[in-house]
Amino acid sequence: MNATRAAEHRGDAGRETRLAHVLDRGGFTLQPASRAASDAADWAMAQTPSGARLLVVPSAAGAGLLSDFDGERGEHGGTPFLVGPPTARNAAALRRHLPWLEPRPLPPGTSAGFGDRLGLATPGHVRALQAVGGSIAPVFAQQSIREMTRTARSPQAVIDDATWGSFEAGWQDGQGADADHLKTTADITACADAGFTMYTIDPGEHVSRGADTAAPGELRAAWDALPWDRLEDSPASMRGRLAGRAFDLGGESVQIDEGALVKAAVKYGRAVAHVTAMFRHLSAVRGGRPFDFEVSVDETDTPTTPAEHVFVASELRRLGVRWASLAPRLVGRFEKGVDYIGDPAAFDADMRVHAAIARALGPYKISLHSGSDKFSIYEAAARHTRGRIHVKTAGTSYLEALRAIAIVAPDLFRSVYVFALGRYEEDRASYHVSASLALAPDADGVPGGDCAALLEHFHVRQILHVTFGSVLTARHADGRPVFADAIRSTLQSHAEVYASCLERHFVRHLRPFASR
Ligand SMILES: [Zn+2]
Repeated sequence: MNATRAAEHRGDAGRETRLAHVLDRGGFTLQPASRAASDAADWAMAQTPSGARLLVVPSAAGAGLLSDFDGERGEHGGTPFLVGPPTARNAAALRRHLPWLEPRPLPPGTSAGFGDRLGLATPGHVRALQAVGGSIAPVFAQQSIREMTRTARSPQAVIDDATWGSFEAGWQDGQGADADHLKTTADITACADAGFTMYTIDPGEHVSRGADTAAPGELRAAWDALPWDRLEDSPASMRGRLAGRAFDLGGESVQIDEGALVKAAVKYGRAVAHVTAMFRHLSAVRGGRPFDFEVSVDETDTPTTPAEHVFVASELRRLGVRWASLAPRLVGRFEKGVDYIGDPAAFDADMRVHAAIARALGPYKISLHSGSDKFSIYEAAARHTRGRIHVKTAGTSYLEALRAIAIVAPDLFRSVYVFALGRYEEDRASYHVSASLALAPDADGVPGGDCAALLEHFHVRQILHVTFGSVLTARHADGRPVFADAIRSTLQSHAEVYASCLERHFVRHLRPFASR
């Protein structure tokens, strides 16, 4: 007892003791990395028989703050404390009291977006970031509206899960939050209300699919029909400004001749007008609060040529749009969940010129979408972008969740896989994948101990990757989820296995970019 009292007079040791008193209750297991201290309180997460709980032990100066939180209050030896559930209100209060948990715009250097469809991956992502060192700025909360719909999650739930995950893992170095692939102003408003700080606009539906193969007469008619009023421009002034112009990229240049201009404008002109309208809506919604803006045309059919990239960037700039990152459609195939498909030398040359354009016309980052598992091109991407890159992954953390389940619950994994096989032909429609059911192994033929090895199989990876929404929202006739609860509870009770899978997998993604 004397030793305890003495420790209480020695700063950190005293804080530890206050938490220790509170933890002196049956069934509480402290998450050591979560321990944090502010002037007002000591903070931590603990696992309890009824799930994860927030612990708050206010200092004398912070006596009033407990009213910000929901939970059960107690007192130990004159020290008040609170044990609270991971609710939305508690997440919001935690972000107010621990400002490093509040999403913020990213610094200009290398950054990485980690999509997390289950809301349980952030601790593993943090471990990978810590393992590679360096200064990669993370985005833990990142989800497209499409993914939120398919997983039945709200924008607020996406933010809150990242708050709890980064708090639990002790990440205090800042984070962004990316509302990904937004297509409408309503999407923007919904995500702004939840506190997202990065907004990725996908104008893919406004990119002309036919421009690359259209005959000259068709191109001319499409050029005349561009939305010139929304572009705040006229054919004559655009031609005068851009046709025949050479853009200096520092060592090389991109020349836009008349034909390239007409094609670029027909292909991307409507997308430029749409992105401009989205930017202006977002600026009004944010009301002066800073944000990162990303323009992504990656999910379109044909690669973005250098002249088209220059066209998009110079026209967006003329219209007052300011962006932190841009995702061109790069050469080759960026299919979901598997390595780059294409000629690495062609990718190298393509990335070199797009990165040079981003330096000359920005600088802004090149954003590498569908960036997971593209191990063969990371080195070239890191080298050419010289630290101005955002690497975005979305579904690969879900595949790691299934790997963890294959390890600890092979029967559950097998039933998810069988279900996914049945859903694949329908669910693949909106994704870039080429897996074939005929080439996927039969689930029955795989012994339990070998299930995790299926996660190395090209066709299995893509089949599991695109069926996540069907898997997570499947319900029995009585309304109970078929898989979602079992998947989540299995991952929660084997959190260490899941975090190790994620750490191992993401170290391979981050290391090529960590030293830049
Ligand atoms: Zn994308």
